[in-house]
Amino acid sequence: MTGAVLSRPVVHAPERPLLPVVGAATEVPLVPSGTARYVNLDTAASTPALVAVADRVAEALPLYASVHRGADYLSQVSTALYESARDTVARFVGARADDVCVLTRNTTDSLNLLAACVPDGERVLVLDCEHHADLLPWQRRGGTTVLSTGGTVTATLRALAAALAADRYALVAVTGASNVTGEALPPADVVELAHAAGARVVVDGAQLVPHRRFSLAASGADYIALSGHKLYAPYGTGALVGRRDWLDAAPAHLAGGGAVHEVTVEETRWAAAPHRHEGGSPNVLGAVALAAACDALAALPAEALAAHESALRARLEVGLDALPGVRRLRIWPDSTTPTGVVSFTVEGADPGLVAAVLSAEHGVGVRDGRFCAHPLLARLGVPEGALRASVGVATTAADVDRLLDGLAAFLAGGP
Ligand code: PLP
Repeated sequence: MTGAVLSRPVVHAPERPLLPVVGAATEVPLVPSGTARYVNLDTAASTPALVAVADRVAEALPLYASVHRGADYLSQVSTALYESARDTVARFVGARADDVCVLTRNTTDSLNLLAACVPDGERVLVLDCEHHADLLPWQRRGGTTVLSTGGTVTATLRALAAALAADRYALVAVTGASNVTGEALPPADVVELAHAAGARVVVDGAQLVPHRRFSLAASGADYIALSGHKLYAPYGTGALVGRRDWLDAAPAHLAGGGAVHEVTVEETRWAAAPHRHEGGSPNVLGAVALAAACDALAALPAEALAAHESALRARLEVGLDALPGVRRLRIWPDSTTPTGVVSFTVEGADPGLVAAVLSAEHGVGVRDGRFCAHPLLARLGVPEGALRASVGVATTAADVDRLLDGLAAFLAGGP
């Protein structure tokens, strides 16, 4: 690897991963020559699988069989694994005793499911900073107001209160942590305002639960949606956890086997949630993987995850701010506890080109583009896109430094 290392202010950050992940030693080819350990600073898109997840999947693989279908030994074992995974996920997000945990494909699936469960005629309030997964299901459903998040946390909470006073809403949909900046409104404040106005709250937890402890019971939020592939498990799993009544009353998410009590040629008696919304053969290995990831994160000491990632974020922010022409994006400059997601622009440079150079010449993976948040990027004045670096349990100070060194070299005009 080549590159001019410029001196810069340095914030102390962890030098070791908090948890081991698979593929951490992957070497990638560099341009013009050589190889380097790949530095994955795109955990906000997808996280690498934890070693603990890979181990648990390897144990479960020989027991692979259809769930909820048969009396044979493997079906029984697989059913037990699947249902125990459901319980683990519910516990991981602090579900109340009467909450339901529907296992889904991902956060997008979870939020589309919830959108179909909000009673007809009811209205939904959503913020304009949301990932498309937490915007488009509401936009498509109709009866939705999109609130501008311009300004400060305080100003946004005031606008939220005014909107809730001006109209009746059944649901407020908010990000638990932005996939662009890692920022969020304080969940307790959102819940208090919404509940006072008779509205429920769904938290888009895709970028929250992999990085911070969260509890439905403690926060008072009514629903949380999450994705396994952002939580150190492979693709294809997610969850919607929360209040039972809407989920029991809505049409089945997918009509098919497993979602029913009784079927005749004329009519169907649907099962209650969660099975009502899990038609088709379920992803038992995915559920096992998701539960293993939840177990591994839950076993960390209370503040370890937040401390690990906050220190890395601070090192990244200070390093970026010292680079000429680099500007960090913020939704709420007064947001106090952002997760480890930082988006930025490089003056005069195409984000796609910068990302390609960082990858090819420095072995660093960052994301470029509009991050499935077009309205937010337009409002932040970068409709053409930006760069995003995001950290996780396996990120170290050296990884952050590799990015900063690569950017410094890019700005200096050399490799
Ligand atoms: N919400 C947020 C905040 C996200 O970052 C993402 C994915 O990037 C999603 C929702 C959608 O997640 P998925 O693609 O796993 O459904």
